[in-house]
Amino acid sequence: MPRSAESKNWGFDVKNLDKSVRPQNDFFRFANGGWLKKNPIPHDESNWGSFYLLRKASDEALSNILEGSKRKNAAHGSNLRKVRDYYLSAMNEKKLNKEGAEPLHKFFDMIDNLKNSDDVVALSAYFRRIGISSLWRVDADQDMKDKSIVALYLEQSGLGLPDRDYYLKTDTKSKEIRQKYVAHIDKMHKIVFGRNRNPEKASFTIMNIETRLAEASMTMVERRDYEKQYNKMRLAGLRRLAPNIDWVKYFSVIGAHAKGQLIVMQPLFIKTAGKMLSDIPPENWKHYFKWKVISAFAGYLSDKLADERFNFFGKVLSGQKKMKPRWRRATNEIDSALGEALGELYVAEHFPEKAKKSINKLVDNLISSYRERLKALDWMEKTTKKKALEKLAAFTRKLGYPDKWRNYGKLNISPHSYLENHIASYTFEFKRSMKKIGKRPDKKEWGMTPPTVNAYNNFLFNEIVFPAGIMQPPFFDPNADDSVNYGAIGAVIGHELTHGFDDKGSMFDKNGEMKNWWEKKDRKLFLKKAQGLISQFNKYEALPGVYVNGKLTLGENIADLGGLVIAFRAYQKTIREKERKIIGGFTPEQRFFLGAAYAECGQAREAALRQQINTDPHSPSEARVNLPLANMTEFYDAFGVKKGDKMWRPEKDRVVIW
Ligand SMILES: [Zn+2]
Repeated sequence: MPRSAESKNWGFDVKNLDKSVRPQNDFFRFANGGWLKKNPIPHDESNWGSFYLLRKASDEALSNILEGSKRKNAAHGSNLRKVRDYYLSAMNEKKLNKEGAEPLHKFFDMIDNLKNSDDVVALSAYFRRIGISSLWRVDADQDMKDKSIVALYLEQSGLGLPDRDYYLKTDTKSKEIRQKYVAHIDKMHKIVFGRNRNPEKASFTIMNIETRLAEASMTMVERRDYEKQYNKMRLAGLRRLAPNIDWVKYFSVIGAHAKGQLIVMQPLFIKTAGKMLSDIPPENWKHYFKWKVISAFAGYLSDKLADERFNFFGKVLSGQKKMKPRWRRATNEIDSALGEALGELYVAEHFPEKAKKSINKLVDNLISSYRERLKALDWMEKTTKKKALEKLAAFTRKLGYPDKWRNYGKLNISPHSYLENHIASYTFEFKRSMKKIGKRPDKKEWGMTPPTVNAYNNFLFNEIVFPAGIMQPPFFDPNADDSVNYGAIGAVIGHELTHGFDDKGSMFDKNGEMKNWWEKKDRKLFLKKAQGLISQFNKYEALPGVYVNGKLTLGENIADLGGLVIAFRAYQKTIREKERKIIGGFTPEQRFFLGAAYAECGQAREAALRQQINTDPHSPSEARVNLPLANMTEFYDAFGVKKGDKMWRPEKDRVVIW
């Protein structure tokens, strides 16, 4: 964000404030209202704020690298050559437009050859390898109950809309979205096959198949319960679920060895998919698979196809007015396909090693405050506390970028076909992941690329990870006042640590294995406190009549609240040693909360907000600031919040967990 001269001194621009709003009534708007008014959402964005600004800046940095690569001498087979050729293929608009849907025809030919359900299963396996999702999903990840081995996971998948509820809910808005989805399928068919086909027959069949899959799918809230989804079985168990599927053939096509044990996340889904394979004729599956091909690959083809895809997924579902420019789409694709090749180039130019040291120190401080906090918790008994402390002590961290970069040596990228590059890199990654099955997990691997403006907690490794992309203002600014850094990146670090103790993370022990380490009584109290948070968020009305789903967002809300509480305590320790200064008219504590609100500054289009409420475990920006702060006595003290103020809650209703 642009900074005024004054903001340079402490990392917060007072022009962001909306002084017409009392901080005691709506802190989010007080802290960010000025910025929000001056910064309407750009046409090619569905959300706009701190995160999105930084994401755009990060895309620009990557794009400069990619543009610059055209002028550099890139040796054949080098990473630079690969990202350059990928980029050239993505930017060759003329060629892409000339080819239209032609590159899809070889896939349609495969589909037209389907004769029976065995063919359908084999094709689904092949499509999985090249990045077309259909029916169920296959993945490799550490066994949730055995840290020493990578297991094969089978999961529900195969839908075109963002979640199963989109097919099943009966409110007007959901019906409207379904109608528009059907219209989108029809339009895509017309673009791809011309006018003389009967797209209505296709879309009707596709909707029927997807709706049956949706009915057999778990809800997003159900999927938060890993214990329920941990169904470990051998091939024989899978055969009992879906006897008509030739699983040996399926696994041989995807390149996974099926001898080991499998974890079936949603047995009902696999059972239903098996039934569907026997009672839906191949002719109907042909419509479904052609649609999967079109939908998966439209973004890598002509403008006409990409535009129509955007019309539905961008405009209808997230309210975006204009598609992102080609350079940004290309950059995002290469970041996701060759993330560590591009990331290595990014880090060499953009990563401040100094920031890594400071963040490392901040993580130390946060963990030490967390330890004190855990020890002092009044609701948890000794035995559980000991386990929680052990888990905290066992946390590992990854900062900036991987120690060892991924080797893309065997991946061929050419400047000629964007779609072929996409398929090649997807397949490369998929093969690599299937090879891990049955082996020890590689704890050095990263789940995000270095330029990513985000962070994560991987329960399975009991680790917290902060890519280079988030170690920048407004999250972290080496020149800013400590208060703002603790409120922003400090709260982010606290947030990721707390994920290890949220509704899902708390099911995993210090080794990253799903094992109950809780005394019954303590678990009950934890769930009771969590219920308090669920009720608070359930009451938050994001749009007229549209409420946040407290259960879906529980983990993030626990992490937000815990992150702020811990970061505040860590910050307090640093101010005890310093002289108390008033800066910009604010006390150190007030500045901390301004930094926290600033990091969450953002606004969303109505459709995007609606989609977020339906599918995103994160609450809307305003709720992520105002609701946790309304639980914090520290905030009440800092701003003198009193009964009668809108941010005020009676003490008995305030929730403090960690
Ligand atoms: Zn989170």
